Amino acid sequence: MGAPEHIAALLDLVLPAACAGCDAAGVGWCPGCAAALTDGPTRVRPRTDPGVPCWALAPYAGPARRAVLAVKERGRRDLTEPLGLAMASGLARLRTPGRPLVLVPAPSRGGSARRRGGDPVLRTAAAAAGWLPDCRMVPMLRVWWGVRDSVGLTPGERQHNLRGRISVRYGPLARRGGAGNAEVVVVDDVLTTGATVRESVRALGLAGVETSAVLVTCSA
Ligand SMILES: [Zn+2]
Repeated sequence: MGAPEHIAALLDLVLPAACAGCDAAGVGWCPGCAAALTDGPTRVRPRTDPGVPCWALAPYAGPARRAVLAVKERGRRDLTEPLGLAMASGLARLRTPGRPLVLVPAPSRGGSARRRGGDPVLRTAAAAAGWLPDCRMVPMLRVWWGVRDSVGLTPGERQHNLRGRISVRYGPLARRGGAGNAEVVVVDDVLTTGATVRESVRALGLAGVETSAVLVTCSA
């Protein structure tokens, strides 16, 4: 984090909040920007097909993009609840009535997540699960150390960079040999090439956990 980001983070603490989507004063996330995330979800088709339906709350543009970046780059924790609520409303539309729902966050590299002060995808998923009946968040995926940052890589390089590097952290869900009757949805903040969700779905499958869908906040 460079000096300008430090100053921005500090200003977020001491000044009244401005909307992370449109800079409207006095609120962290305004109703207009919230509406931009609750139109969908929309079906999206990433270049790297994870083999299950993929859905996005919004395109990676405008208020949605700015909000995701504010969380990632500036540690705007006040956006966890509104982004979680938007994700919950998308999941409420996608889920099959009568079946439990399990949210599995796509994994972040440990180092970059820690530098940002925690894993924003995990926090958003936990907030979403809190809004939905019969839903829980199970952070069962991890990325091996040594994966390079994917910024600036071509789609092919990204796929190669991640191949076989995402694995399941064995806990009760994987040990039981699957999620039983539950629908499993992999969630992430931004879908670009699809490499991360594809490897996530593959790793879950190897552990006997069948993924029903992928839902992301934004699709590039
Ligand atoms: Zn706004």
